[in-house]
Amino acid sequence: MTSGTARQRRVARDAAVAAAVREGLLGATAPLVGLLDVDGMLGSVADLHAAFEHAPAEHTFAAKACSLVPVMRLMAQAGMGCEVASPGELRLALAAGFTPDRIVYDGPVKTVADLESALDHGVALNVDNFQELARVDALLGGRPAAAPIGIRVNPQVGAGFVDGTSTATATSKFGVPLRDAGATDAVVAAFARHPWLTRVHVHVGSLGCPLPLMAEGVAAAYALAEHINTTLGRRQATSLDIGGGLPVDFAADDDTPTFTDYAGELRRAVPNLFDGRYSLVTEFGRSIFAKNGTIATVVEYTKTMGGRRIAVTHAGGQILTRAMSMPQAWPIRIGAFDAKGRPRSGPTEPHNVAGPLCFAGDMTAVDRDLPVLEPGDILALYDTGAYSLSTHFSYNSLPRPAVYGYRGTPTGAVTFALVRTAQTIDEVIADSGAAHTEALVTLVHP
Ligand SMILES: *Cc1c(COP(=O)(O)O)cnc(C)c1O
Repeated sequence: MTSGTARQRRVARDAAVAAAVREGLLGATAPLVGLLDVDGMLGSVADLHAAFEHAPAEHTFAAKACSLVPVMRLMAQAGMGCEVASPGELRLALAAGFTPDRIVYDGPVKTVADLESALDHGVALNVDNFQELARVDALLGGRPAAAPIGIRVNPQVGAGFVDGTSTATATSKFGVPLRDAGATDAVVAAFARHPWLTRVHVHVGSLGCPLPLMAEGVAAAYALAEHINTTLGRRQATSLDIGGGLPVDFAADDDTPTFTDYAGELRRAVPNLFDGRYSLVTEFGRSIFAKNGTIATVVEYTKTMGGRRIAVTHAGGQILTRAMSMPQAWPIRIGAFDAKGRPRSGPTEPHNVAGPLCFAGDMTAVDRDLPVLEPGDILALYDTGAYSLSTHFSYNSLPRPAVYGYRGTPTGAVTFALVRTAQTIDEVIADSGAAHTEALVTLVHP
């Protein structure tokens, strides 16, 4: 069954593709574009808040999932906080108008300067390991912390379906491993030594972690906080950051599972989680943005190879790094439109849909039944709003495409707002060291 939200999103999406063609945002001279559904993103934020409405939770979104300043600004306005994991993401969050009290700084490899900056700004901080904790202790120098400081733990509950995005395996690189010998005692001792340590952070994994596995990780964090407070005989652990990681179904329009499904699973696995004893922080990314973004591209050429139809497009690994790194994990749904942006119908044939990179694995679909494609047709790659539009990969020096936000109107019209201009070739050249053109020649022939 397709929900009302999903239907609305689909109608708006197809109208946006046609309108982008009509308005010249997409076509021969702009063969690749990112489109973000503004009402869809706000709807996802509203769904998240509704799912946790009975719990005192601060909802942040993971900046890396869609680190475009206007998107981040919209999120700030919609009542979200922001999870950042690098100095760049911190600056973006501040530029987007997040006040420090609504920013959470994670990140697996913070330098002393990064930590100092986070403490100076007064953003919440989750340390990844005991060496980092010692640096924070030295930087605080006995001062109280201005914002919550937590420690990330790895509950080691195991992997989801996709190894590369599972963060809670026995040997994952993130956090303090809870099931290793002596680790829990070491965490308790750290809390005993550092009264400013008040938060336990866990993020079980992104993409492909079943809800019970995620809930098991949260249960471990909850049990640890209880154990810390009992052992210390005081309520020092006061908040739990339960991370993000809600999976996205890339096979259908609906949000499955929903934030409400996850909240229900958490309630089953950790019955006291929502009783208010711990304030909660969430850090969802993919589940907020994926279904609200579409990458649209022009079919530049079509050919047949070994009997297979191949459509050569401008969308590939440079914008869909997930397609590049995990092509088999989840197929990308593709909508076919004619050159005017009208949905293509007619008999289908198996197609391979290729990206623009000089790399054979750069395919967005293999053996996919699609209406017979022609040059100039438009393909819409659905559910690509997360980890794509802001995570460009500079392979073949291809420029980043423009990104537009859109809203549908009841009359079927579509309004667009420019979110990011397309990168120019001049900018690509500058980013490639053009200012130092003679550097190596001069080194060799001084
Ligand atoms: C990436 C990340 C998230 C967001 O994960 P999603 O799967 O996009 O929800 C949250 N927390 C941390 C620490 C992360 O690294």
